[in-house]
Amino acid sequence: MMEKSKTEAPAKQSTGGYPFSEIETKWQKRWDKTKLFKAPDMPKNPYFVLVMFNYPSGDIHMGHFRNYTYGDVMARWKMMQGHDILHPFGWDAFGLPAERAAIKHKLHPRDWTLANIEKSKSTLKKVGISYDWDREVASCLPDYYKWTQWMFIKLFEKNLAFQQEASVNWCMDCNTVLANEQVDAEGKCWRCHNAVTKRKLKQWFFRITDYAERLHQGLDNLPGWLESVRIMQRNWIGKSTGCRIDFAINGTGEKLPVFTTRPDTVYGVTFMAIAPEADIVERLPIPADKNAEVTAYIQKSIEKTDIERTTASDDKDGVFTGCYAMNPFSGEKVQLWIADYVLASYGTGAVMAVPAHDQRDFMFARKYGIPIKVVINPPDRTLKVDDMTEAYVDLGTMTNSDHFDGKQGESAIEAVTQYADKQGIGGFEINYRLRDWLVSRQRYWGCPIPIVHCKKCGPVAEKAESLPILLPEIDDYVPKGRSPLADAKEYINTTCPKCGGPAERDADTMDTFVCSSWYLFRYADNHNDNEPWDKEKARKWLPVDLYIGGTFEHATGHLLYFRFFTKFLKDIGYLDIDEPALRLVNHGMVNDAEGVPMSSSKGNVVSPIDVMGERGVDTTRLAMFFAAPAGKDVLWSDEAVIGVERFVTKFYRLIDGCQDRKPLDLKRYFTKDDLGQAAWNIYVKLNQAIKKVTHDIDDLHFNTCIAAIMEFMNDSADLKQQDNPEFYPYMLQKMTQLVAPLSPHLAEEAWEMFGYNTSVFKSHWPEFDANAIVADTITIVVQINGKVRDNINVPADTTKEQLLDAAKASERVQKFIEGKKLIKEIVVPGRLVNLVVK
Ligand SMILES: [Zn+2]
Ligand SMILES: [Zn+2]
Repeated sequence: MMEKSKTEAPAKQSTGGYPFSEIETKWQKRWDKTKLFKAPDMPKNPYFVLVMFNYPSGDIHMGHFRNYTYGDVMARWKMMQGHDILHPFGWDAFGLPAERAAIKHKLHPRDWTLANIEKSKSTLKKVGISYDWDREVASCLPDYYKWTQWMFIKLFEKNLAFQQEASVNWCMDCNTVLANEQVDAEGKCWRCHNAVTKRKLKQWFFRITDYAERLHQGLDNLPGWLESVRIMQRNWIGKSTGCRIDFAINGTGEKLPVFTTRPDTVYGVTFMAIAPEADIVERLPIPADKNAEVTAYIQKSIEKTDIERTTASDDKDGVFTGCYAMNPFSGEKVQLWIADYVLASYGTGAVMAVPAHDQRDFMFARKYGIPIKVVINPPDRTLKVDDMTEAYVDLGTMTNSDHFDGKQGESAIEAVTQYADKQGIGGFEINYRLRDWLVSRQRYWGCPIPIVHCKKCGPVAEKAESLPILLPEIDDYVPKGRSPLADAKEYINTTCPKCGGPAERDADTMDTFVCSSWYLFRYADNHNDNEPWDKEKARKWLPVDLYIGGTFEHATGHLLYFRFFTKFLKDIGYLDIDEPALRLVNHGMVNDAEGVPMSSSKGNVVSPIDVMGERGVDTTRLAMFFAAPAGKDVLWSDEAVIGVERFVTKFYRLIDGCQDRKPLDLKRYFTKDDLGQAAWNIYVKLNQAIKKVTHDIDDLHFNTCIAAIMEFMNDSADLKQQDNPEFYPYMLQKMTQLVAPLSPHLAEEAWEMFGYNTSVFKSHWPEFDANAIVADTITIVVQINGKVRDNINVPADTTKEQLLDAAKASERVQKFIEGKKLIKEIVVPGRLVNLVVK
């Protein structure tokens, strides 16, 4: 498939003589030459269309093609509506696949990446998509990653980039750490799908948790985003309100704060469950005879994946540490257990366990013989521990709870929280599930971290004038559990930017999601070497008006990270927007004719290059649009392709057969007197089509747009050119405009055939004539057995069948036909319906 793309497709003609190859090449050259898609620096009426950053792993495939042509339709349509368009393209060019391919083929990852970019770009150019290639960026090039490093330093300066020893996700296969967002719901690596384990490592993090509340609240201001994506983000951020209660460890006195949404159960705490990798474990005064057992348990559990640890199964296990904590409310001793169903990433990594009122705690307590204490009673009865077969988890009345006895429901929660606050043993707290973003990677092919480690000064940021810190040339990219850069001594050994003494560079590179968190802003001013962008230019173009991409796989990754960057860059004065993209749409998958998603591993990939070579770009586009609206999966079939090919040919022939081709005043509207009844009916249908296409194109329902245009083409087929010398070419020109965003090469050619010497995309998108939207209505008499029973109003062009249906639907008519046998139906079109019943 990739091989084929290299050879130029021979000039082919579809049946009927539409020379697509010649016409498509001609217009692609013309658009290039006239710089039709060049975005101005300071737009008056901006519209920014963006497709997600492309990972250049090979040539573009059908999925890309669909995504990019969707963006293209919208860019061209908005251009016809008088907008200045920014429609850029760029490459998310660092990352693991390049490094792996390089190791396999003994290439430099850069060479592999740049060759893929070259190949994909040449395909994209043949597709004629309206990109402003002057705005192209590639994250692996120094003029780009200089600014990725600048971002890192800005975050570092604000204490939002920091190093921490933590238990982190480790993929054995990728040989690197992963962010929480890169571990899928099954606890597997998002890239290689191998199980992820934990390792304790010192890593760089971005303090995205400082923005948790703003990220949470901002979701309410994104009506243009898919609700499902917003829900996924809301759950990921996981805001919950509750109470912090400070337990204290017996023997050391160290505070052990826990977060709970049910402080009303605090008197029922009989043990505490601590995550095996929680920091506090190291500081517990574990008695000598317990040590071996505890160590073994910890070792075993950190080899499990999060999902193995947390899935709902009855068999939760743990180990008693021999230590206790003190409940600050009751003063009672509480057992401290280490249990791997608790994740260190939750709060402090310790949860208070209330077996009587939490099912998981209940099962755990029964299994290990830990005391169970009832502290909440249901409204209608009194619980007895011995009779309980499961936990009582609902709200109720506090009991066995000292002076709180009798407090009920929400007010009980409030009373306990207030008391904790007053006593200095806790208080109201908001907890987020969101954790800080782990951004360092032990890999070669990434953006170098611009930090120097000095024995005297600690971690020091590089000076801005030293950027970019270039990725060094090395011979061995194979990761050995630490970054390959660590062995590049010339790179590592440097001087401290602060004190000038000897120092070492950070050997890690950044997660590629850092590169893609800010690329959209760079498009506003991508050649700027002095700052990431000119603020005035960014103000003009941003935010992105329409963002198109695979939204679900990125819902809690990229789409969260770029919102974080937006808010941070606003805080430091480089942006003046709160959110990066106003509207977010998902393109669906492209499935083969059997409904199986196309993927290279399944071997069912249809190459757009092949289809384009045989049938032309416009036909390929239309076939794809026609197969399904955005967000829905496409079923690719050759029959659909042949159907739209016929349409393209027919359209071209219509224009070619028009005898009076000259530019017209397309702002003019017609009246019935101008046209006569027959042509007026067609004029009404034309305006209905304009209205429908305008509406549906905005919803990205290109399939119904094409259907409406095809239908109009059929409806108008009988209109005689010679009888309508003014209206006929007018109608064809409007059709050309309607089809233009969807089938741009065909439309440009038609437009030129009509004698225009400017692009159809610089013409004005047609507006429908409001006086010609509703078809004329006529009054039809409805008779039952020859007697007039009703008069109904119907559109003038109603068919016989529709007339009968309308007549039978009339309430008055129904009274007379109910329960009777219909013997005969007589329809006199335009006049009456007579139903004979018995
Ligand atoms: Zn992996
Ligand atoms: Zn120093």
